[in-house]
Amino acid sequence: MKPKPSPTPIEADPARLRPAVFLDRDDTLIANVPYLTDPALLRVLPGAAEAVAALNRAGFAVVLATNQSAVGRGLLTEDRLREIHDELNRLLAERGAVLDAIHHCPHVPRSDDRATIEFHDRKPGPGMLLRAASELGLDLAASWMVGDLISDVLAGLNAGCRSILVGSNATLDELPRHVEPGRALAAVDLAAAAALILEERNLPPGGSAPC
Ligand SMILES: [Mg+2]
Repeated sequence: MKPKPSPTPIEADPARLRPAVFLDRDDTLIANVPYLTDPALLRVLPGAAEAVAALNRAGFAVVLATNQSAVGRGLLTEDRLREIHDELNRLLAERGAVLDAIHHCPHVPRSDDRATIEFHDRKPGPGMLLRAASELGLDLAASWMVGDLISDVLAGLNAGCRSILVGSNATLDELPRHVEPGRALAAVDLAAAAALILEERNLPPGGSAPC
């Protein structure tokens, strides 16, 4: 039997790289249940699946990047986490939305400082985003990270993306304390963030809106 040809590696040709939108999971794509361990409790936030579908249609790779210290704490097995994400994919598919990849980081932080990198893979570290970029052939400079915590914003910036903070006003107040003006945007939720991304993409070079 002839050996199967090995898959062609993705070349680092900028013209062939895709833009991506990296998404945080809890309080960005789904309702936050602390240390979620039961797939039956998973709820996609209103408008979130439709936002992912719109990004899919616009040609963005959509990649979930989620800190899951529950695994490192022994509260959740890798198999159970896979079941939860299978259920997430099923619920998204019902509304025509697709995640191109899901990355999680199981490490347990030593502090609650969300702005300091303790592990390369744990947000605000860029590791999950960089791995996805390598595996999927993503153009990080043309990509975005969307999440509800400053660690999400910083992970995106640390990976060379632009970032959008979503969520409550209390969280949005954190932005100027950690990020220079103009380096990140804010939006009320994922649907609003996706609208910003799609609007920016439709601007011609130079930035002015088309007539
Ligand atoms: Mg979150």
